[in-house]
Amino acid sequence: MTDTLTIDGSFGEGGGQIIRSALGLSLVTGRAFAIDKIRAGRKKPGLMRQHLTAVLAAAEIGRAEVEGAEIGSRRLAFWPGEVVPGDYRFSVGTAGSTTLVLQTVLPALLIADGPSNLTLEGGTHNPFAPPLDFLARSYLPLVERMGPTVTATLERPGFYPAGGGRFDVQVRPAGSLGPLTLNERGEITAKRVRAMVANLPRHIAECECRTIAKKTGWDEACFCVDEVRSAGPGNVVMIELESQHVTEVFTGFGKIGVKAEHVASGTLNAARRYIKAGAPVGEYLADQIMLPMAIGAWQGTGGGEFHTFGLSMHAKTHLEIIERFLGVRTEAVQLGRDDWQVRIADCGMKNEE
Ligand code: ATP
Repeated sequence: MTDTLTIDGSFGEGGGQIIRSALGLSLVTGRAFAIDKIRAGRKKPGLMRQHLTAVLAAAEIGRAEVEGAEIGSRRLAFWPGEVVPGDYRFSVGTAGSTTLVLQTVLPALLIADGPSNLTLEGGTHNPFAPPLDFLARSYLPLVERMGPTVTATLERPGFYPAGGGRFDVQVRPAGSLGPLTLNERGEITAKRVRAMVANLPRHIAECECRTIAKKTGWDEACFCVDEVRSAGPGNVVMIELESQHVTEVFTGFGKIGVKAEHVASGTLNAARRYIKAGAPVGEYLADQIMLPMAIGAWQGTGGGEFHTFGLSMHAKTHLEIIERFLGVRTEAVQLGRDDWQVRIADCGMKNEE
């Protein structure tokens, strides 16, 4: 049995990602951890409902013992047991992000010894979290290139503050994760814009599509206005860029007092920055894809490299926690203004233990 890993929750970016990644990697490695100063620099420090749901979900899947699993808790200790794949339902109970709960438990289920079916309830399209469409169209296809099969199906969207969304995930694991190389984006082969409204006038979504159409001249067939049912009001616009080697999704959220044109323009600016930079991996995808790659490296079967146009503080913090848990070698080198190369490689730690 290896020692408990002690983590300072305020290091680097100091946010919820440190907890989610520690939970995910603790399940993968079987290594216990204790974290203090959880989200120390945030306005409301400690565990919020979304983080607590992630802790409880990880504990349930990994038959773990936990101390400090309470709202507002600034210290958590986690002793993982055996990861048991199967059927699970996790509910955040508010509009808290369900996709971030999935981010926590998915790594262990990708390499578990049987399939899993998950149902997640809460927010599915939240600011500052991966929208379900991002997971389904961008992130999971890359995970599938490493071996497992994962499908995510939206049953009902949930927006802040009402929540009430639901999606299902089916995981067919691969015993070990293979390598991923994403150094080139290739030609952009398709562009799709989807503007979603729930319990709000349709013209908001129409205006978002019109704004993007006017600024880009993209064909009418690229645009889709979607009126959906949800527990409360919500509006989101998503620009999906499919390229030869990767698909990226850029998201903007409607807010009271912010014009639909403004939401659409902001989202388009993010997509344009990506188009101009030329790197295949965007800022959010970068910090998320490094985790399964690192697990593959730790297993001695995967790892790899990718190019991204910027490495956030979030991603740098994530690399550090990955190194501490897995002992894999990670390298992030800036090659140009909008070009970073990230490499993740096995360095034999797992075999030495
Ligand atoms: P805290 O409140 O402590 O900052 P948190 O738990 O709410 O933390 P973060 O630690 O900021 O969340 O992590 C957010 C995660 O959501 C990151 O993995 C990031 O890549 C992802 N994310 C945020 N916005 C988007 C987006 N628009 N598209 C895809 N992924 C996103």
